[in-house]
Amino acid sequence: MQKIIVTGGLGFIGSNLINLLIKKGYKVLNIDKVSYASNFYNTNNVKKNKNYKFIRCDLNNYKKLHNVIFKYKPNCIFNLAAETHVDRSIDGPKQFIKSNIVGVFNLLEIFKNFFKKNKKTKLIHISTDEVFGDILKGRSKENDSYIPSSPYAASKAASDHLVYSYIRTYKIPALITNCSNNYGPRQHPEKLIPKLIYNILNNKSLPIYGKGLNSREWIYVEDHCNALLKIFKKGIIGNFYNIGSNKNLNNIKITNLLIKVAKKEFKIGTNVKINYIKDRPGHDIRYALNSSKIIKELKWRPKIDINSGLLKTFLWYLNNKKYFSSIKKNDVIKRLGLK
Ligand code: NAD
Repeated sequence: MQKIIVTGGLGFIGSNLINLLIKKGYKVLNIDKVSYASNFYNTNNVKKNKNYKFIRCDLNNYKKLHNVIFKYKPNCIFNLAAETHVDRSIDGPKQFIKSNIVGVFNLLEIFKNFFKKNKKTKLIHISTDEVFGDILKGRSKENDSYIPSSPYAASKAASDHLVYSYIRTYKIPALITNCSNNYGPRQHPEKLIPKLIYNILNNKSLPIYGKGLNSREWIYVEDHCNALLKIFKKGIIGNFYNIGSNKNLNNIKITNLLIKVAKKEFKIGTNVKINYIKDRPGHDIRYALNSSKIIKELKWRPKIDINSGLLKTFLWYLNNKKYFSSIKKNDVIKRLGLK
């Protein structure tokens, strides 16, 4: 049985990936520092499974991380541990430098030694389309330049560079993935779609930054996780892979689509209307990926269209209202990123 380490597995994508890996019969060790973004609710489905284990560990705790990796001897490490909220990176970039850059450096140093005796183990570093910066036209390819706009995106760009430098210099068997905006179950309501759903369920107005014209490429989280699994099985060491849906929508359009989907399942209150609020500083207008490499070379394709993805997402939050109550209210409603 193959053994996998997922870092950041109490967060949104990590926990969805763990659910998928357990379903597919892998043995999984979840390593997470347990932060405001972590939620044990996210791993409720797997916590009693004999193939699942959780260890609290910060990527910055070199000794503990070293011991955990050398003891578990994974076949693959998916690195999803990161500080991820752009607004928080505007208010306090230091934590982003610490986790996303220094934390990744620690992981690389450990992995550099670990792989010497475990040649087949792969490290898959999960990154974002935000590293390419504002893409007003066209779609970013894997080898386009990185021009990150926020401290979050810059910290992810730095980590990608570090991973690639270890591939080139120390020949570590690693791969880097850049994915577009994910949505789906188990995402913290500081992010757009779960925030909108929370407000729809609580008859509150829907806060949209600026003029609502910022466009993102929306991918259902399960499609992303399937792509990661494919990359683990078939991806070529040392390569970058873009993962996207090729479907861009601006914030007004995605909000209106969500309202439409929600209306079929739930009686929406009269306060549920778009409310334009002060824009995020440095807010990129558009991200868009060209994902033809993974489609052609690895025969992966996203399967869930935006309508069915939004429906699945809305229904998950509707049926898991407890999820919201497990998060500090202030973390849900407080406006960040204006400092
Ligand atoms: P998230 O914020 O929901 O979860 C991140 C998890 O990582 C949290 O549980 C947190 O406690 C943990 N973590 C943070 N720093 C850590 C550290 N130093 N040591 C151990 N654990 C730590 O994030 P997410 O949305 O699930 O994103 C996961 C990864 O995917 C990130 O690397 C992010 O950059 C990338 N990504 C996210 C998206 C998206 O749309 N959400 C898109 C592309 C790429």
